[in-house]
Amino acid sequence: MAEQLYTIPVNDAFDTDCECPVCAMYIKLENDALDYTLGPSYMEEDVRAMTDKVGFCKEHAKKMYERGNRLGMALMYQTHTYGVIEAMSKLKPETKSGFLKKADNSSLINYVRNMSDSCFICDRIEKVLDRYIVTIMYLWKHDEVFKEKYKNSKGFCMDHYAMLVEYASKELSGKELESFMEITEKLFIDNMKRVKEDLDWFINKFDYRYKDESWKNGKDALPRMLGKVNSLDIQE
Ligand SMILES: [Zn+2]
Ligand SMILES: [Zn+2]
Repeated sequence: MAEQLYTIPVNDAFDTDCECPVCAMYIKLENDALDYTLGPSYMEEDVRAMTDKVGFCKEHAKKMYERGNRLGMALMYQTHTYGVIEAMSKLKPETKSGFLKKADNSSLINYVRNMSDSCFICDRIEKVLDRYIVTIMYLWKHDEVFKEKYKNSKGFCMDHYAMLVEYASKELSGKELESFMEITEKLFIDNMKRVKEDLDWFINKFDYRYKDESWKNGKDALPRMLGKVNSLDIQE
């Protein structure tokens, strides 16, 4: 059986007025993942086994902390750090080197780096976002209404533009691939230029010569540009 498609959330994101519909999907999935992780699920054995194993990245640790449920978070970190201490106690830093060799501490360094990068919440988001992007490609091939919606979007952030190019190369071919790449590239560049012009105007407004003129679309140009360049979601 074919993998599940997610036409509803994908269409919803493309119906949203935003600078990147994939960011809109990401934000929704991230909120759901945060709710799930801080909900009753952290007391379930299989979920706790996963949070113990992979932990959380810096960004999601911060977002969980800001949401409250301090007890739930403390319990997850209690059992997670139990494993971390156990593993790291075995990874003592080396000081002595072999003959003509420097001390090798790569196992310890790699353990810490992998742990900092791995994240239960990122994993949950990525798994579904992957299916969402596959769904975009499916809809591109089969749904003319979606195609129009896609063409009328305000483009994408840099990261998700690259993601769309990557998935299209795998999922599409021939004429479908050609038209997807052509339209996606144009959407990306044209809309980057649009937000850049808004940013130019935002900068002009700091000049006394423009102070009585209207803000046009410049007022929130900086947070929108941070959305395009850094995939940041900043509400003014
Ligand atoms: Zn994005
Ligand atoms: Zn994360």
